[in-house]
Amino acid sequence: MTEKQPLQELLDLLESSRRIRAFTGAGISTLSGIPDFRGDNGVFSKTFKGYDAEEIHEIGLFRKHPEIFYEYAKDFTYNLSAREPNLVHYTLAQMQQQNRLGTIYTQNIDNLHQRAGSLDVREFHGSMVSHHCLECETRFCYAEIVPVVRSGQVPHCRKCGGLIKPDIVFFGESPDSELLESAFADLERTDLLLVLGSSLTVPPAANLPMATYYGGGKIVIVNRQPTGLDRHAHLKFDDLQEVFSAVAEWLKRQA
Ligand SMILES: [Zn+2]
Repeated sequence: MTEKQPLQELLDLLESSRRIRAFTGAGISTLSGIPDFRGDNGVFSKTFKGYDAEEIHEIGLFRKHPEIFYEYAKDFTYNLSAREPNLVHYTLAQMQQQNRLGTIYTQNIDNLHQRAGSLDVREFHGSMVSHHCLECETRFCYAEIVPVVRSGQVPHCRKCGGLIKPDIVFFGESPDSELLESAFADLERTDLLLVLGSSLTVPPAANLPMATYYGGGKIVIVNRQPTGLDRHAHLKFDDLQEVFSAVAEWLKRQA
C-alpha cells in the first residue's frame, strides 16, 4: 500500500465528503493575536490579582466582584476590534460560501468567524457581541459597553442600575442545552468533522466531536497540543497555518 501524503489525503476528503462541519477553539484565534486559553502562553497559565482565568470567569465571583472580570477583560475581550480574522477564519468562510462546509461550531467568543464572513456559526460559550442586565434583562450591544469598560468602569443598566453581563457562558452557568442537542444530532450525521485549534478539554462541548465518530464519520484534528480524541482522529496535524495554506490553495484551484 502506498502511503498518501496526509495533507493530500485531507484535500481528497474535503473533495469527496458530502457533509462537512467545523469545530473551532481558541487555537485558531492565536493566529490573530488572541491568547489561547490553554496553550503555552495561554491565559490559564497566568494569574490576575491572585485569581486564575478560570476563577475570573466564575459566575459567583462575577456577581460579587464584577470589577475583577471587567478589569481583566478590558484589554482582552473588550479590545477585539484590534484583532482581525486570519487565514483559518477566511478560508472556512469561503468554504461555506461555496457550499463545501456547513455549520461552524465554536468555543470562541471573539466573533472572528462572523467578521470573516461566516453566517452559519453556533457559539457554545456565547458571545461578547451582546450583553444584558442581570436585573431587568435589558439588552446592550458590544459597542455600548466597550467605552465604559475601557474607561475602567463596571457597566450598569441605564434603566434599573443593575449589573450588566456579557452573553458568554461563565463557569457555573449551564450551557445552552438546546444548542448542544442540535449540535450532537448534526455532528452524528457529519461525514467529515474538522476539529481546529481546540484541545477538547472543556466539557460538554469538548465531547461533541465524538458524535461524528459514533455516526461513522471521520474526524480530522489540527491542534498544537494533544487532544483527548487524537486516537479517534483519521488524521492529526499540528500546524493550522500550514494546513490552511494548503486548503486555501486547493480552494483557489476549485474556483
Ligand atoms: Zn436593568
